[in-house]
This record gives sequence, C-alpha cells and structure tokens, in this order.
Amino acid sequence: MNRKYRRTVIAANWKMNMLASEVRAFAEELKQKAGPARWCDVVVCPSFVLIPAAQKAFRDSRVAVGAQDLSLHESGAYTGEVSAAQLQDIGVQYVIIGHSERRGNFGETDMDVNAKVTAALARNIRPIICVGENAAERDMGVTIERVTLQVKTALAGVPASKMRRVVIAYEPVWAIGTGRTPTAEDAAAVAGAIRALIRGLHGARTARAVSILYGGSMTPANAGDLLAQPDIDGGLVGGASLSPSDFAAIIHAANPDNYQGITTA
Ligand code: PEP
Repeated sequence: MNRKYRRTVIAANWKMNMLASEVRAFAEELKQKAGPARWCDVVVCPSFVLIPAAQKAFRDSRVAVGAQDLSLHESGAYTGEVSAAQLQDIGVQYVIIGHSERRGNFGETDMDVNAKVTAALARNIRPIICVGENAAERDMGVTIERVTLQVKTALAGVPASKMRRVVIAYEPVWAIGTGRTPTAEDAAAVAGAIRALIRGLHGARTARAVSILYGGSMTPANAGDLLAQPDIDGGLVGGASLSPSDFAAIIHAANPDNYQGITTA
C-alpha cells in the first residue's frame, strides 16, 4: 500500500450471513479489538436488510456501512431490486459491484457492472468493483487480459473527477472461499497492471489515488504479506470477516507500523 497517495481500505463482505441479533455483538467486539484504526477505512457490507442494524451498531465508530449490490435501474417496476437512490437515502457509503458470485450465479455481465458503477457514482456511493480471473483463465495465462477487460468495461464513461471515489478489488475467482491465494507478488502484479491501465486512461495522478484491494481467502495469517505490497491498498474479506477477532487482526495487519512500508507510486 502507499499511504501517501491513497487510503487503505479493509472491507468485509458478509454475504448472506448474520442476523440482526448478531450484528450488535459483532460490532461491540470489533470496536474493542480493532480500536479506531486510523491507518485505514473500515467498511462492513451486510445484506440489505441488516444495513440499518449495522449503521446503528457502528454509529459511534469510524466503521462505514456498505451494500453488497444495487440495481442498475434508477426506479420503477423492478421487483426485488434496490436502487442507488434508496441506498443513498439511508446513508450507505460503499457498494460492492460485480462480485464473482453475482457474475457467476446471477449472470451479471461486464456491461451490467458498468451500469451499476455509473448508478452508484451518480448518488455519491463509492463502488468497490470486483474483478478477477477464474481457474481456467489463470491456467491459460490470460489473467491480465481478463482483468484488464473487466476494469476497462466497468470504468467506461467514468470521468477522471469521479475516479478518486472508485475502489477496485482484485479477487481471483479460484481464491474466493477456497483457502487458496496467489503469492503476494502475483497478486501485486495484477494490481499493478490495473493501476497501469488507469494511468493510461486518466493519467498518473488519478491512478495513484485509486485504492486497489486484494480479495480471496485473506486471513490474519496471510494479510501482512499481501498488504505490504506497494500496489495492494487493502482487502475485501469474506469468510474471515465473519469473525470479529480475525477481521480485527486483518485491520491491524494493515497498520504500517506492523510491516516494512514501501513508498513507491
Ligand atoms: C469475497 O467473497 O469477496 C471473498 C474475498 O471471500 P473469502 O475471503 O471468503 O475468500
């Protein structure tokens, strides 16, 4: 990570887990174990119905609450959908977009991701855009091509002025929920390629201001190595974010006092 130019972000993707009755206890334990953690921005993304409970539980802390998805439509006859305006209305600050589970299980396309990114930014909600290759793409050696295309499509039409609000999460699909991870250097190489792409689109100043996270089986044991990489500016954490102590340990692993910070752009 490079704290000089961009924020470190540690985000929890709770997926379809937790009940309202569990959120408060989670928040109390996390606040106690993580403390104010001023070295990073901490975000929790619960299911839609748990957002108010999470906002209440974290209201006396620096923890922001995000959503796990949003509709690409503005309003109207879209039963079951939740719009960017509705999320903004209740104070949601971040939204995960294009998670591989949405792409794989619900047929979300790169174009859908782009429409959702546009919708979120129009309502001042920070998109956490998920990209990543699957196992077959990795075996074929097309990781950079795949990820580059996903990022380019997701960001189509996004002006440089809004890029600072964008967070990108590199999440190799084969690493999500599997306990397998790329080496920290391999993950950083992909994050570096994403930054190079943004540099080509919007210039060096914008590229160095965008936070690029790693996601996929991040744990307290591997977080330090991953977060010490210069182009990895945080983590999107699934399984380990369901344990307040593990999530707090990952937040502490992002503290630059705990690793040899590297300060290149
Ligand atoms: C995720 O689903 O975004 C994720 C990173 O999950 P996990 O940490 O469980 O691999």
